[in-house]
Amino acid sequence: MTSYRIALLPGDGIGPECMDATRIVLDRLITETTGLDLTFTSHHAGAELYRETGETLPQSVLQDCLDADAVLLSAIGLPDVRHPDGTEVQPTMMVGLRRALGVHSAVRPVKLYPGVPGVLRDAGPGIDFIVIRENLEGLFASFGGGSRVGDEVVTDTMVVTRKGTSQVSDFAFRLAQRRNGRPRDGKKMVTCVDKANVFRSLAFFRKVFFDVAENYPDIHSDAVYVDAMSLYMVQNPWDFDVLVMENQFGDILSDLGAGLVGGLGLGPSAEIGEHHALFQPSHGTAPQLAGKNVANPLATILSAAMMLDWLGDKHDNTVCLNAAVTLENAVAQVLRERQVRTPDMGGNASTTEVAEAVAAALSAAASSTATSSATSL
Ligand code: ATP
Repeated sequence: MTSYRIALLPGDGIGPECMDATRIVLDRLITETTGLDLTFTSHHAGAELYRETGETLPQSVLQDCLDADAVLLSAIGLPDVRHPDGTEVQPTMMVGLRRALGVHSAVRPVKLYPGVPGVLRDAGPGIDFIVIRENLEGLFASFGGGSRVGDEVVTDTMVVTRKGTSQVSDFAFRLAQRRNGRPRDGKKMVTCVDKANVFRSLAFFRKVFFDVAENYPDIHSDAVYVDAMSLYMVQNPWDFDVLVMENQFGDILSDLGAGLVGGLGLGPSAEIGEHHALFQPSHGTAPQLAGKNVANPLATILSAAMMLDWLGDKHDNTVCLNAAVTLENAVAQVLRERQVRTPDMGGNASTTEVAEAVAAALSAAASSTATSSATSL
């Protein structure tokens, strides 16, 4: 039996509550799954730690993240904890962690589960696509840099490299190979989202994307401008399978995607590189909800399912792959039954009650037919 060690960063605000809830579910999953062996080391990191010590991510914690098999993070940052220049501490920590882990592809599944009220009047053949955001370059590459001329001119530079674009495009095609295709007709496809008609950097992104596409003749490839894509995501989301794009575009479109399928409380994410991976909910720390046991833990729980899927794929471990499906099916069952849900979804259950409902659904979910389509690599 292979054992995997997970570094946990519960973080700030509602982060620790969502992490505790996820542990309830993971501990039950481990107990009920023969051959699933996960161990956890939990660390303080983030804004509260900065307030106490002046550091967000101590070197020893970063080292443990690098040494672990995967990192599961809840939410980081507090609006009132800032650097002396007035900026929040969260971006500095997250960009530093991403760079250290080399996680070049950020994956946000946009999936409408039965029982979740979507904002679209008609959900057509269903919504199940993936937004992949290039995670280390683009407009975020100049984070902490850029240039400033007195109090008059400030610039940030868009950085697009062949290596970074090839990595994220390759990742997108490999993920499309593992998925079931778009909801409309099962066609497997990857769509490059850019602004190639205006920016040389993004014309280059598109060119490299199509270079990579030649290695995947079994997957359909096309390209759409980002402004048109924001329209299509709302009008006909079932026409898409995997979308790949520059960092800032991905930041924006993934929140639009979350809005389509039940909001931030349901949106998981994965950040994946060649050697390391980091999993976290899409939402922030919602400080006004912290300590009340009302935050929705499902985004963190679904992020843990993505982590199991990635561990299973990376290590060719069927136990982890099946556990990922079981965990997602258990969440889907709780959503479908519409009984136990937190206030953001119109219910009155606590964070802990939702976790306990998912944990209770695991054994039935383990024997049910797999419904999920791969979300990570
Ligand atoms: P950040 O800048 O850290 O990403 P943000 O400004 O995007 O944070 P979030 O903390 O993500 O804000 O949340 C915005 C609002 O969405 C919250 O104030 C809260 O009302 C709601 N929200 C986010 N996550 C959850 C959750 N897990 N459960 C319930 N409500 C949530």
